[in-house]
Amino acid sequence: MLPLSWRTFVIELMSLSDKTVQQVKDAMRVDDVVGEFVRLKKAGSTLKGLCPFHGEKTPSFVVSPAKGFYHCFGCQKSGDAITFLMEHNSLDFVESIKWLANRYNIEIIEEQRSQEAIEKRNHRDSLRLVIEAAEKHYITTMLEDELGRSVGLSYFKHRGFTDETIKNFGLGYAHDKRNDLVLTLTQAGYKQEHIQEAGLMTKSGADFLRGRVIFPIRDMTGKTVAFAGRAMVSDKGVPKYLNIGETELYKKSHVLYGLDLARAPIRKLDEAIVVEGYTDVISLHQHGVPNAVATSGTALTPGHVDLIRRFSDNVTFLFDGDKAGIKAAMRGMDVAVTAGANVRVVILDDGQDPDSFIQDVGLAAFEAFMSERKVTFVEFKASWLLKEAGTDPIKRSKAAREVMRSVALVDDSIMRQEYARFAAKLLDMNEQTLLAETQEERVKLLNQRQKDAAREQQRLQRERRRAAEQSGAAPPPPMPDDYQGMDAYDDYQEDDPREQLVERAAPSRHQMIEEAVIRLLVLWAEREMEDGITVKDYVLHQLDDLRDHFDDPICKLILLECYDRHSRVQPINEAYFRSHNSQDVIKLCAKLSAIKYNPSERNTYRHQKPILDNHYEETIKTIRRLRIKKIERLLKKTQLEFSELKSEDEKKQIKLIRRITKLQSILSALHLEDGTVVLPNR
Ligand SMILES: [Zn+2]
Repeated sequence: MLPLSWRTFVIELMSLSDKTVQQVKDAMRVDDVVGEFVRLKKAGSTLKGLCPFHGEKTPSFVVSPAKGFYHCFGCQKSGDAITFLMEHNSLDFVESIKWLANRYNIEIIEEQRSQEAIEKRNHRDSLRLVIEAAEKHYITTMLEDELGRSVGLSYFKHRGFTDETIKNFGLGYAHDKRNDLVLTLTQAGYKQEHIQEAGLMTKSGADFLRGRVIFPIRDMTGKTVAFAGRAMVSDKGVPKYLNIGETELYKKSHVLYGLDLARAPIRKLDEAIVVEGYTDVISLHQHGVPNAVATSGTALTPGHVDLIRRFSDNVTFLFDGDKAGIKAAMRGMDVAVTAGANVRVVILDDGQDPDSFIQDVGLAAFEAFMSERKVTFVEFKASWLLKEAGTDPIKRSKAAREVMRSVALVDDSIMRQEYARFAAKLLDMNEQTLLAETQEERVKLLNQRQKDAAREQQRLQRERRRAAEQSGAAPPPPMPDDYQGMDAYDDYQEDDPREQLVERAAPSRHQMIEEAVIRLLVLWAEREMEDGITVKDYVLHQLDDLRDHFDDPICKLILLECYDRHSRVQPINEAYFRSHNSQDVIKLCAKLSAIKYNPSERNTYRHQKPILDNHYEETIKTIRRLRIKKIERLLKKTQLEFSELKSEDEKKQIKLIRRITKLQSILSALHLEDGTVVLPNR
């Protein structure tokens, strides 16, 4: 084995031996590796969690330790521990193997690497190398340069940061010269275009960050992706903090400052503390509050909350007591509640910030203060808005509405009711009125969410298709997802009058197929279709864009309750619905468990085919039939509208023709899958 100093030099020219790769593959555990970055819960023989590759609130990301793979039911990403590291941590194959070898204590044996392999470093790697070199330069400048020491280092020391903290957070200093960094990097052989693309150089060739102390911003895997700088002069024209703009590596809404160090503590303490500034995070970590994070260069987004929720559902905002701090807390709170977190708030007294506060009082007093001042977001919002409103009755009722709007964001129905009751007390209002108002807000919200979800689904589809096109592969075969996006036609949701003429005693065609779908959920929800994917996972995912198209109110009620229970990881089964507090639900369930036949093509319960006890086939077929029925109805309405259109509205004509063609092609694809023959103009 070569001495250490040689190894770093040689590493570029080497590749890993087959033996090392095999040893790593034998040792690696997918649940172990994924579990490092995603909070996984046991679900039968598999594990489940929130997908790290797309934003979601209910877990559709499944990890199978037995089979060694992960699969996302929502965005279809799948693979093993190595592909996970490559995709999630942006490592290449060799880096992933090294990461794993390190984790499992496997000795790395390397062999000569081909020239071709060396030249194949991709674009992201080039940017990473530039960032790495810049970080080193900022640190060296601060520690070794005279000005760096007297301005940069002394600033951090003055703030009370220890040497260890300065090192842990990689703090540095940027000279106040025009192109100190750019010059250093280009002389070391880095390309100007890469320096600019990494966000470090302005268009005119100057350093982007000058005369500032530097905070490296790292992603959750600990890799530096960007920098922020704090000005050393207080001048009105100079922003105090300056962040590098978004780059290929740095997406502001997907990076939380400090999360690389805080992610294990957040999981362990089951709480994340969100603060406003970089120095707040650093100070808290140094004084024994390791679960603090901050946003960088932007307000809190749903993406940030998704990141936190990989490790804990509990988010506590710790903000300054000034107007700006309270405003930021208000905004962040709603974002976090919407994204499914349990939100609490602590507001410091005016004039204080977390950094100075913990330095002043120490850890014990800080923790005591936190537990004493911590309130739910409802309490915080209600008391603050009421204080603002004073005795003005109009302002007070406006405040009440504002609070209700926030309560409506809570997904858990039990918590929501509790919050509403609590708010009623605080606002001194009738509980029932408030509950009703919350419910109203809730309906509005759910409608909006369905629309957003359908849009997101379409976006993912488009992305997948584009990716397939770019890689030269054949476009993916139409997946069930391709038939989604009913939402695009939501101006056609009103009932078809012909359907309403059908007597209630005999269920309509739509009701019959809806009942068949509900039957899947009530009787078979927990059955496995594939490894780790249950009937309810499949059905609820597939019905996401069809919820609003259910005609039967009882079916719809059961469906929405299934979504609610699913999101709270509560079981969905017959026993639950059989003891429901609505008699209509109980009756329908009894009927469903008695039905032995599927509605036939003619949609009567006579001449039908028996329901097979094959839940896999039945589920897929039933969902497909429902979709066919609903799309047929849309098509009919669109055709009707087209035939009644005035001839001069050419734009509208084209729009409708496009819509009709699209619906027809979706329909024929569905029929083809279903094995049914379509007669023209049936
Ligand atoms: Zn996903």
